[in-house]
Amino acid sequence: NNEIITPDKEFEQKLRPSRFEDFTGQDKIRERLELFVQAARQREDVLDHVLLSGPPGLGKTTLSYILADAMDAGIKCTSGPVIDKPADLAGLLTSLERGDVLFIDEIHRMQRSVEEYLYSAMEDFVIDIVIDQGPNARSVRLNIQPFTLIGATTRAGMLSAPMRSRFGLVNRLDYYDAATLAIIIKRSAKILNVEIENDGAMEIASRSRGTPRIANNLLRRARDYAQVKADNIITAELADKALNLLDIDDDGLEEMDKRILSCIINKFGGGPVGINSMSVSVGEESDTIEEVYEPYLIQEGYLQRTAQGRVATARAYAKFGLVPPEK
Ligand code: ATP
Repeated sequence: NNEIITPDKEFEQKLRPSRFEDFTGQDKIRERLELFVQAARQREDVLDHVLLSGPPGLGKTTLSYILADAMDAGIKCTSGPVIDKPADLAGLLTSLERGDVLFIDEIHRMQRSVEEYLYSAMEDFVIDIVIDQGPNARSVRLNIQPFTLIGATTRAGMLSAPMRSRFGLVNRLDYYDAATLAIIIKRSAKILNVEIENDGAMEIASRSRGTPRIANNLLRRARDYAQVKADNIITAELADKALNLLDIDDDGLEEMDKRILSCIINKFGGGPVGINSMSVSVGEESDTIEEVYEPYLIQEGYLQRTAQGRVATARAYAKFGLVPPEK
């Protein structure tokens, strides 16, 4: 099942919309960003720094490429944990041309020393680099070209306040509803050259955990099934069979979602349970539980986060055919 949620770069590239018109859903964010692009272009200005937050696979990278394209700008991509020292960042920053986008994924995982270095770059487009060592060490101020930083994070709350305050535009992406995912699936099906009925698209959409990346991956598997078994047409019945074969749940929950719920119910009496105990118990890192799994389980009403810990809801019990204990 892991293959369904982990990105396959080449496949994603093929299905990635490159213009605002093809980016479906997140209407408010899209409208807002389009407006800012237009305004910046009218002033012949560089686009303000943008922060995009939200769970993986909802389109942060896609939006960054769209923004760069709409600004007729170049884009360089990196990720917070990859930049280990200020010099790496200096190299990147000095290579940017006016108006270029620097995309930093997982910006909340950037080291503090690197982060602090970024502040003056974002604010005044200058960096101070230290040359030489020991008694000869001195700091030299370098101008860099005005650029747009796009930061992506699964954990906006973990970003330091000074970092956050330097973004002019802050946007939180939410899970997609099934109708919107169905539109994305139909567009992808066209690109993959496979026929899909409306009901077939809805079947896949409702089992995609609100996430375009998962929707596209499930479509790919349904396509394989259709190719071998059914003249290349994805109907609702075919999608259902293909997804059952992959053990994709009717409600779109995956193995780890169910393991988390079952652990709270069976090992911790329904909760409350702290994140660390749960992490050990299900064998997944606490960060991943908090960033990837919990937001969806909370949104769908399976889980509640309380001051004492995580609690399974009646819906979680019902999922396993159980009745919650009397309080
Ligand atoms: P991560 O943080 O894990 O990299 P992400 O939020 O950057 O995830 P993307 O890489 O942008 O996610 O999107 C994953 C896949 O889903 C891509 O193939 C992209 O084309 C598709 N996708 C995402 N959002 C949309 C959308 N609104 N419309 C159409 N396709 C989308």
